[in-house]
Amino acid sequence: MTMSAAGEYDIAIIGAGPGGYVAAIRASQLGARVAIVERGALGGTCLNIGCIPSKALLEAAALFASSRDAGSMGVSFGTVSADFPKVNAYKDKVVRQMTSGVESLMKSNRVDVYRGTGSFVTPRRIRVQKADGTFQEISAKNLVIATGSVEARPPIPGIESPGVMTSKEALNLTELPESIVIVGGGYIGVEFATIYSSFGSKVTLVEMLPTIVPLEDPEIGKALATAFMKQGMAVKTGTRVTKIEPKGTGYAVSLATGDSSEVVEAAKVLVAVGRVPYTEGLGLDRIGVAMDRRAIKVDKRMRTSVPGIYAIGDSIAGIMLAHVASSEGEVAVENALGHDVEMDYGAVPNCVFCEPSIASVGMTEDAAKKAGYDIKIGRFPFMASGKAVASNHQEGFVKVVAESKYNQVLGIQMIGHHVTDLIGEATLAIKLETTVEDFAQTIHAHPTLTEAVREAALDADGRPIHIWRRKRL
Ligand code: FAD
Repeated sequence: MTMSAAGEYDIAIIGAGPGGYVAAIRASQLGARVAIVERGALGGTCLNIGCIPSKALLEAAALFASSRDAGSMGVSFGTVSADFPKVNAYKDKVVRQMTSGVESLMKSNRVDVYRGTGSFVTPRRIRVQKADGTFQEISAKNLVIATGSVEARPPIPGIESPGVMTSKEALNLTELPESIVIVGGGYIGVEFATIYSSFGSKVTLVEMLPTIVPLEDPEIGKALATAFMKQGMAVKTGTRVTKIEPKGTGYAVSLATGDSSEVVEAAKVLVAVGRVPYTEGLGLDRIGVAMDRRAIKVDKRMRTSVPGIYAIGDSIAGIMLAHVASSEGEVAVENALGHDVEMDYGAVPNCVFCEPSIASVGMTEDAAKKAGYDIKIGRFPFMASGKAVASNHQEGFVKVVAESKYNQVLGIQMIGHHVTDLIGEATLAIKLETTVEDFAQTIHAHPTLTEAVREAALDADGRPIHIWRRKRL
């Protein structure tokens, strides 16, 4: 092994996902000398095997599905086909464009990129092990751990059978499976369910909890399950997978729902039951960084238990989303460079890009009740929205949770076509502690889907325009 000269930095970051690379850019903007260490491709899970490739596949799937539905609008495409290797090539092209964009950003922000696996030698020094066996050492006044997460593997008998996929493999299928069992009805599971079902696979979606997308309002989870079943998927909630066995060229998946059991056979099995923080091999025990099981413990300034070491993104406990990782990255380096900022998790938007899609921010009805608020609820169905009807996507609704005393909007949840594009307004509304009255006094363009958000807010006050409500006394 050879070692080259050490670099000296203000900030060194381990991991170049949306947490790490955004932290690097922000630190550079603040005038710091910055290094980033990455053992894989720049962009991390999000750009390479997460958000971006899944959305490329979802867009291709949506195009395919909409061509099938176009007949009801009087448009016909003849025979429409999907060439799966070409769909994959499109996805790979999108990923390349995004990751090379990050490379350019690192260059233009003068961030030194070290290729290799980083680990702590001391709290101020990290070793970068390169693929060829050589290593380099970097010293920095402050360090940020942004090593992300890996797929969780629950202890289901047979889960290690050859060919059982995680999201990583599912993004690289070169052939459309004729049938697939998806274990886990969280956001990753339902997005893959939409991809495969739209292209024509027979999908069985299995979720242990009573509703799919269990982190969302149960009304949303139930509406999604109904929509999925209408699309031809089998949705099995309150159901455990007890065994996965190879059978012929596919698999036999044993399921238990209460006292009854069944076996579903499918060509492929995808396990999407969540992700766990990844901190292996960093040497955190050596330098005394406190952990909460597999996650790194941090405070609201993203400080770990060791002064000068920060941790962000999926490697800490809490919300595992790209935009949260990025925000935490900015907070970490701002604090490291002498500012005083805290993370605010009060208005974190959550989007699920299945069809119909889901978007939510702030408190659900249950959370607001638990927090002791006296609340009122407003709802507006997309079937009463001119834009939704004209675009042939009438499914879904917007739900607004407001508290009664000041009329403040506490949470907004939506399900419907392209509702992920409506979350910006909703997030700003929660962040700025907007009231129902603010929504009422804000003119929304017609015909747009955003009108539905205003109408749902008005409904919380018993005064929607485009649906009839008996006057509240
Ligand atoms: P990561 O993106 O995981 O990056 C960590 C990086 O650290 C990796 O590149 C890794 O190679 C590197 N690394 C690890 N250890 C070391 C080491 N010792 N030395 C050097 N490098 C190291 N989130 C959303 O907000 N929206 C979505 O639509 C969305 N879709 C998703 C779809 C899928 C299929 C998956 C799997 C995830 C999705 N996510 C989505 C989640 C999102 O990808 C993560 O929350 C996000 O990537 C976390 O960012 P991060 O920077 O913390 O970690």
